[in-house]
Amino acid sequence: MKLGLFGGSFDPVHLGHLLVAQAAIEELGLDRLFFIPAAQSPFKPENQPAPAARRLQWLRLALAGKTNCEIDDQEIKRGGVSYTIETVRDYAKRFPQAELFYLIGADNTAKLNEWREAGELAKLAQFVVTPRPGEAPVNFPAPFRGRTLKGFPLAVSSSQIRGRVKAGLPLEPLVPSPVAESIRAAKLYT
Ligand code: ATP
Repeated sequence: MKLGLFGGSFDPVHLGHLLVAQAAIEELGLDRLFFIPAAQSPFKPENQPAPAARRLQWLRLALAGKTNCEIDDQEIKRGGVSYTIETVRDYAKRFPQAELFYLIGADNTAKLNEWREAGELAKLAQFVVTPRPGEAPVNFPAPFRGRTLKGFPLAVSSSQIRGRVKAGLPLEPLVPSPVAESIRAAKLYT
């Protein structure tokens, strides 16, 4: 069984995330893909994300009807700073026979060996990079192994979406309509 793990802040989830997921399902032949929102990213300590309940709600709206995509709230439940190694260990324990693929955008590749317990992490999961416009292709730093997908490169980011809310610009189609409506109704990022 092939399991995809997709961690991030999802603050908010956007079309770029959904295309990463679609590319991974198609190119890797994943059986299941888990979106795993972080409570707090270790690389964004100055960033207080939108409340976890909101980020989870937006993920539910964005993934409604996508049967091979699931949401795992374990990092939210643990709270504090979210370290990928703890999450990947949990999957390795629960699914000992599965092949684990951890999805990241190309902006994260060069920094992989700064992740907590990088050596152990590299043993437990293969890393899968999706191209991101504006990011030069980078090789995996040792000891990480994995592959780069063709993907559907799209230069959308959560910070751009937050900026568009502030500027009063339309969010569709960069985020799914129900997510855009929920962001507007909650008056977040204004
Ligand atoms: P921010 O703009 O706030 O930094 P982000 O758009 O990078 O946020 P995250 O939730 O932090 O979103 O991203 C989760 C994962 O998805 C990261 O590995 C990131 O590199 C990847 N990712 C996000 N957007 C894209 C995109 N447009 N193309 C490829 N990968 C992406």
